[in-house]
Amino acid sequence: MSTVDPHHFPEKAPGTPATREFRPAVKAELEALCARYPKRDAALLPALRLLEREFGTVDEPGMQHVAELLGVSAARVYGIFSFYTHFRRPNDGRYVFQVCSTFSCALGGSEAVFDELSAKLGIPKDGTTENRLFSRKKVECLANCDMAPCMQINEDFVDRVTPAQATALVTEIEAFASSGRDTGPLGAFHPAPQTYHLPPNPHPPRLAKHFLEPGSETFAHYQRRGGYQTAKNLLHSGRNPDEVIEQVFQSGLRGRGGAGFPTGQKWKFLAKNDKPRYLVVNADESEPGTFKDKMLMERDPHTLLEGIIIAAYAIKAKAAYIYIRGEFPLGARILDQAIQDAYRNGILGPNAFGTSTQIDITVHRGGGAYICGEETGLLSSLEGGRGHPRIKPPFPAVEGAWGSPTIVNNVETLMCLPGILEHGSAWFRSVGTEKSAGTKLFSVSGHIVRPGNYELPLGVPMKEFLYDICGGIPGGKKLKAVCPGGSSAPFLTAEEVLREENPIRLDFDSLAANKSMLGSGAIIVMDETTSMVDVLWNILRFYAHESCGQCTPCREGTGWIAKMAGRIARGGGKLSDIDLLDEVAWGMVGRTICVLADAAAMPARSIVTKFRPEFEAFIAKGGPYRPHQPHHGKGTGGAHA
Ligand code: SF4
Repeated sequence: MSTVDPHHFPEKAPGTPATREFRPAVKAELEALCARYPKRDAALLPALRLLEREFGTVDEPGMQHVAELLGVSAARVYGIFSFYTHFRRPNDGRYVFQVCSTFSCALGGSEAVFDELSAKLGIPKDGTTENRLFSRKKVECLANCDMAPCMQINEDFVDRVTPAQATALVTEIEAFASSGRDTGPLGAFHPAPQTYHLPPNPHPPRLAKHFLEPGSETFAHYQRRGGYQTAKNLLHSGRNPDEVIEQVFQSGLRGRGGAGFPTGQKWKFLAKNDKPRYLVVNADESEPGTFKDKMLMERDPHTLLEGIIIAAYAIKAKAAYIYIRGEFPLGARILDQAIQDAYRNGILGPNAFGTSTQIDITVHRGGGAYICGEETGLLSSLEGGRGHPRIKPPFPAVEGAWGSPTIVNNVETLMCLPGILEHGSAWFRSVGTEKSAGTKLFSVSGHIVRPGNYELPLGVPMKEFLYDICGGIPGGKKLKAVCPGGSSAPFLTAEEVLREENPIRLDFDSLAANKSMLGSGAIIVMDETTSMVDVLWNILRFYAHESCGQCTPCREGTGWIAKMAGRIARGGGKLSDIDLLDEVAWGMVGRTICVLADAAAMPARSIVTKFRPEFEAFIAKGGPYRPHQPHHGKGTGGAHA
């Protein structure tokens, strides 16, 4: 068995033991986890989580131990560990301050939090204090965009954190640590639940109607409101699964994760062979600006489980896996509890609802990698590998997890199923537009009076949504730009969003017709003080950081355009950089294994094209744009009527 090369593991913490070994109970826990997958090595990420939980870190002796238990090489374990960012490193301090630096948090002032923490801790870059009490890291989107800026300390979150609060926390923890106690004071800083706003009449919610009720996440609450009855009726009916697929197809349900592909159609693509089939839930919600699935899982896990049961029945899945972001520890705990309750009540297991149908669901927690939100990257990760996307075809419906036909569906998509089965396809289509049926969760962040999640029928005009429902722009400022579908969507100018004639609507087709996309329904709003130069640099840094590196146009291209944007933002740009950046971005589109390269290129091209005068003025001035002195060039303003 190969060993880990110590030169690849420079962070050797003082006092690291020569060997590590799980307690017998933890070994049994790992064996039980292995039994949930067709192959043992799929339990690699969960095993690293066990290391982290048991020893407070993932280090070389721990990885050697995991390698032996799983029967894989230590080099493989280290290769997987080093791909993911979210595990505790050997040199991490006892309290790891992770400040979100991505789009919405940057708009909310995360850079100031970071600078203040740097000064307080005396750590100019990511690192650890000498007493090993604190580490400080800049991290990518934590999916708390409505409560920006956000910071994670170990597994706790601090929302809407100010520089003063961040440094006060350091002082408080120092005092606490010097008292010699073991556990931190961080419980007090656990976040308020994700913001959910009941939409005004006439838009009654369908999915989110129970979200404001206390205990909505519990089994008892779900049962009281008639939960699991639809799935129970289905399993007892003996209904032909193909009929269920047809009903979902007729409902017009389109995937809520970003691509908007018709769900029933996807299911119809399943290869007809004798291999086992799998259902995989994409709960790796990582697109900057998106925080709806996190809320759905934390507030209503049982509707998701019921949706999974219905889908698993329809596609005849042998097992279902919920791949949840590593940064969602609360959601993972709530789902684990919900699954335990469902097993205990005979809803899951070998005889689901007292029938001969077997349905098993496993929560699989990721390790912190945006690319695992891409469905084949997710499958690679689920199998115990790096989150490397795969060339398509074959699509997962033909050859997915462990080489078997696999359906990957988003959380919100699956949560629509109980309603469709209970009330029928026509009911689902009774709201929304002809080609974008039903309601949708929208996540709104940035410069907006009431950030948060909203459930609305698809097709609502964007201007009405932003101004009449979300309260408009704070401080009476003017709108400058909107990113309508997560940071990979091409940007819209204020003129486009505010025009009266043929208004842009929040549905798949209206946004496509306006050369953007609905994506995951994450709407990021920018007011007139926003520097589009800084915005461009911020989002390009993100994609360069998240490229998995397999394809040259993506690996090199995201890096180059991020560097060009950075040079402009730091005041060293040339006018020719604008065209060069656009040209390099164009060269990245449609030439890679997955769409991450496009996700970087498309918003970049829209920003430098639509806000070109601002870039030209910025470069001519040779210095940073100053907030509160808005540039008045074409395309930078826009009055709200
Ligand atoms: Fe990886 Fe980028 Fe290629 Fe996608 S496009 S597979 S993220 S290198």
